[in-house]
Amino acid sequence: MLILHCPYCGVMADETELAPGGEAHLRRAGPESSDEEFMAYLFERENPRGVHFERWRHALGCGKWFHAARDTATLEVFGTYPAQVTEPPEALLETIREKRPGWQWRDLK
Ligand SMILES: [Zn+2]
Repeated sequence: MLILHCPYCGVMADETELAPGGEAHLRRAGPESSDEEFMAYLFERENPRGVHFERWRHALGCGKWFHAARDTATLEVFGTYPAQVTEPPEALLETIREKRPGWQWRDLK
């Protein structure tokens, strides 16, 4: 069972209390973007076997959105953090690099 720490209310919430929100750190395509860029924003998602950053909502708790970093193959959770950031916290990235040597945060363009 997936258990995530809500960074707002401090609760260790299991998956029955959470609602998934898809991939984290998507960059919205602006009005100047091409049709291809907008289509990529709407439909193209990463689907890694390994480290992945996701959006979750503490639906049956405080109701707030947060981000989680976890391994999709092992279900190991590296950490959670508030959703009002454009990139994961550096300390979390360091934790992941220590556990997964050679792993790199994607290029956000
Ligand atoms: Zn909460």
